[in-house]
Amino acid sequence: MTDEELRELAAKQAALGEVRGAPGADPVNAPMIRHWLDAMGDSNPVYLERGVAPPAMAQVWTMPGVRPRDKVRSPADDLMAALDGQGYTGVVATNCEQVYHRYARLGERLTPATRFSGLAGPKRTALGEGYFVTWNVTWYDEADEPVAEMMFRVLKFRPVPARRQAEPYPLRPAVNADTAFFWEGVRQGELRIQSCADCGELRHPPGPVCPVCRSTNRTHVVARGEGTVFSYVVHHHPPVPGRETPFVVAVVELPEGVRIVGNVVDCPPEAVRIGMPLRATYRAMDDELILPMWAPREP
Ligand code: ZN
Repeated sequence: MTDEELRELAAKQAALGEVRGAPGADPVNAPMIRHWLDAMGDSNPVYLERGVAPPAMAQVWTMPGVRPRDKVRSPADDLMAALDGQGYTGVVATNCEQVYHRYARLGERLTPATRFSGLAGPKRTALGEGYFVTWNVTWYDEADEPVAEMMFRVLKFRPVPARRQAEPYPLRPAVNADTAFFWEGVRQGELRIQSCADCGELRHPPGPVCPVCRSTNRTHVVARGEGTVFSYVVHHHPPVPGRETPFVVAVVELPEGVRIVGNVVDCPPEAVRIGMPLRATYRAMDDELILPMWAPREP
């Protein structure tokens, strides 16, 4: 289906006007109201005391459910299916505006009516190229009076393909005049620790001034590449691009007298212990970046 054909289908669906769905499976009822109030954290007693539903529940009463019993198609359904067929399989709700005419009362059975009201696109978005699809729903009571109305808009988009393996690891270290020597060492498989050129004090992370003698003259030593776990966390969440969770982030104590933060690899997170002996290992994250990490010294 071409863009032109999609627009023709949209015009046809709009011309259908308002299409009635099936009445809600259940009348407006206290148990569903009670659950909804619990879920929303709404402790206002007015609804159950007066026997009315919170207005924002409008959509609840006619939800189709996981296995819809109602075979009536809304005028938006055909368009959504056509967009799926064109590869616009992603969906995200972008707008929802509701108008409440009155409270729905216990025992009332509401009926939705849907009007297809717009297709806009294709447009480029951060999620991928897609169409904005808009429809309006009015909920009627048994006397055909409107109780509530809703405008609903979604973006149907073509999901951007998953990140390819060859792409660079997105988290890059800050390399500057203070830290360049450290990253140059990593490239050469060396763990370099900054030292004061005047008093010899070691410091990590690197910085411009010696904390002991205030000298700005600096050099570095090459550490043995051994250490022990001083402290650690197991990172489960949030996801980190290019990394698989869970992973261990440890503060590693070096025999040279400084501590350094790094990942503990080649061992399950639950096996990591305070004081565990480690050795430095150098891992290529992509074609350019190598990160120093830590592996157990004993198998
Ligand atoms: Zn110093």
